[in-house]
Amino acid sequence: MSNKPSLVWLREDLRFDDNPALREAADRDAPTAILYILDDETPGDFKLGGAQRWWLHYSLKALVEDVDKFGGTLILRRGDASELLPEVAKEIGAGAIFWNRRYMSWQIEQDKALKEALTDDYEVKSFNGRLLNEPWEICTKSGGPYKVYTPYWKQVQQRDVRDPLPKVQKLDVLSDSPKSDKLEDWDLLPTKPDWAEGFGPVWTPGERGARKRWLAWLKTEGAENYGEQRNRPDCDNTSRMAPHIHFGEISAVTMYREMQDKIAEREIPSDAGQTFLSEIAWREFSYNLVFHFPKMFEKPLMEKFEAFNWNDDDDAFTAWTKGQTGYPIVDAGMRQLWTEGHMHNRVRMIVGSFLVKDLLVDWRRGMDWFWDTLVCADPASNTASWQWVAGCGADASPFFRVFNPVSQGEKFDPNGDYVRRHVPELKDMPKKHIHAPWDAPRDVLAKAGVKLGETYPKPIVDHGERRKEALARYQDIK
Ligand SMILES: Cc1cc2nc3c(=O)[nH]c(=O)nc-3n(C[C@H](O)[C@H](O)[C@H](O)COP(=O)(O)OP(=O)(O)OC[C@H]3O[C@@H](n4cnc5c(N)ncnc54)[C@H](O)[C@@H]3O)c2cc1C
Repeated sequence: MSNKPSLVWLREDLRFDDNPALREAADRDAPTAILYILDDETPGDFKLGGAQRWWLHYSLKALVEDVDKFGGTLILRRGDASELLPEVAKEIGAGAIFWNRRYMSWQIEQDKALKEALTDDYEVKSFNGRLLNEPWEICTKSGGPYKVYTPYWKQVQQRDVRDPLPKVQKLDVLSDSPKSDKLEDWDLLPTKPDWAEGFGPVWTPGERGARKRWLAWLKTEGAENYGEQRNRPDCDNTSRMAPHIHFGEISAVTMYREMQDKIAEREIPSDAGQTFLSEIAWREFSYNLVFHFPKMFEKPLMEKFEAFNWNDDDDAFTAWTKGQTGYPIVDAGMRQLWTEGHMHNRVRMIVGSFLVKDLLVDWRRGMDWFWDTLVCADPASNTASWQWVAGCGADASPFFRVFNPVSQGEKFDPNGDYVRRHVPELKDMPKKHIHAPWDAPRDVLAKAGVKLGETYPKPIVDHGERRKEALARYQDIK
């Protein structure tokens, strides 16, 4: 083994704990250089969205400080990774190159080509640092991919999840580092206007922020009652770990194994803990789907939906994005998304159903909006979830099951607290009328200071009519 430097290319694994590629480098008798490339060219439409760029800035800032503690520099480069990785490897005279694997079609293509091109000159090794199980490891009896979640989850439960690797505490970081871009020069943060000003108070990107949130959440009522409360946006006590997992500031393996320990130690009730583990597996199911069916990024998995007659309604779409539809639970969700870069899962389903089945707008427009505005936007989870909502994906919610935004609000936000938090115009509405203010008596509206059509919009569509219309259009493609 040479003691030429090892080059670790970090991508969606911005952490020192349970990081197989970094661990491999740290365990060698050779200095390590750590590289991050901002590649806006290779991913095409999946170039990082605005909210993710905000997150990436602060996550890399934290990582720069951590690498600095080892006496080295995080090498930052911007451009096509297929050119930049070989360039940096050459500049530092690397002997080996390590990375953790990625699973989207364009990522696999790039990694494969790089591996082939670099193998003659370097030792190139890749690892699984992102998933409990890689997509080819969980198969049906006939060897194909699962399209239904329940049997997929059963198989996951039958397999052991490996131990997390120890955190890299000692690292001989290459002192004579090559040139690096300045993070500030990447302009990842919005300025005019600073639409992300609401993100700072809510999130702490970076590995330390991830660990802190995870450990704190494990002690909350949200973890203890996860099974019952995970559907309640008013309680707002799910883990909010999604962006941390997406950027790899904590690994799925670490979270899964630590939750299993909490269940075994009876610190978290088994049903709550198991439900949480099954949600981690939903994430993996999405990875499994897009790995085996990459056309899902653009087309419905159920082909008949290609013929669906969507409305090309820009005004309705804009009202949806701005949280001005006149349906309080929908507007609350869309405004939470804008101010926090996050939306509760139940409300994601409600706003998704509303866009597709009430506004009759193509699910791909909603998917793109989420891509730009969610801090946790993930090509696999976002694509698979939107197809699920639109009824055209694997194991999808059937199209004919149309969510009623009023009864969904009444069921999952029974006192209206979620709506009041995000739609302040309705803060004085009594719980009886908060999810359908158009049905409230005049004196109730007056007392709450609500003038429909002035202080808060009237519903932009009639749910009953649109439901019928959606089902009729569905009949056309059936
Ligand atoms: C239309 C739509 C779009 C979505 N887009 C994304 C996305 O871009 N990125 C993303 O990470 N999740 C997405 N989800 C899934 C889910 O809404 C979020 O993962 C969850 O709300 C994140 O909040 P949390 O971390 O508090 O979740 P928790 O309830 O605390 O769950 C823990 C973790 O499990 C995973 N998880 C939970 N629910 C799901 C699910 N239904 N599908 C996949 N993984 C899940 C996430 O990694 C999450 O952080 C989407 C769901 C819908 C309906």
